[in-house]
Amino acid sequence: MPNSDDELRKLKAVLEVSSGQEWQQTIRLLLRLIGEDPNREGLKRTPLRVAHSLQFLTSGYKQDPAKILNRCFKVKQDEMVIVKDIDVFSLCEHHLLPFIGKCHVAYMPKDRIIGLSKIPRLIDVFARRLQVQERLTTQIAEAINTHLQPLGVACVIEAHHLCMTMRGVQKQNAKAITSSMLGVFRSSDKTRSEFLTLIRSNLT
Ligand SMILES: [Zn+2]
Repeated sequence: MPNSDDELRKLKAVLEVSSGQEWQQTIRLLLRLIGEDPNREGLKRTPLRVAHSLQFLTSGYKQDPAKILNRCFKVKQDEMVIVKDIDVFSLCEHHLLPFIGKCHVAYMPKDRIIGLSKIPRLIDVFARRLQVQERLTTQIAEAINTHLQPLGVACVIEAHHLCMTMRGVQKQNAKAITSSMLGVFRSSDKTRSEFLTLIRSNLT
């Protein structure tokens, strides 16, 4: 878990939060701090809903990427595998606001491949945590690199950050693009540009 047990105990003591009620009481306090009345009709079940929603959106901490990636198949395949336009939803760790976009992943197998559906599941393991887009991109590429040991991995994420569009600079269409290139995707211009061309093409 992200918090040390010790700090959690101290915070709970300061807030006088009873065990088992941490989430709901903290969200009630948050509603008070906003200037709202947590007892008014529309907000009565909000602490429970927000608790469930936040627990789901951060459920990736409890998931192990190895469990998804360890079921691979041995094959003789040396052509690039690409899964593109995968929806990504994550929470920025600076503002706890969503960032939303598309993720494109490719790898160049050496002797094993994974089921294509494993890649979106792997992305969710890391996206359902508090993130910065750069680290999310790197973690996805490195997990595939570690568990599949391919000749190379590429991961590109393009995303809109609500902390940029709803507040701060308020640029509605600003998109952040991050990439992580490992192995042949880093060393070979030809492989990298083939990947970049394919993720921009509508045919694949
Ligand atoms: Zn942010």
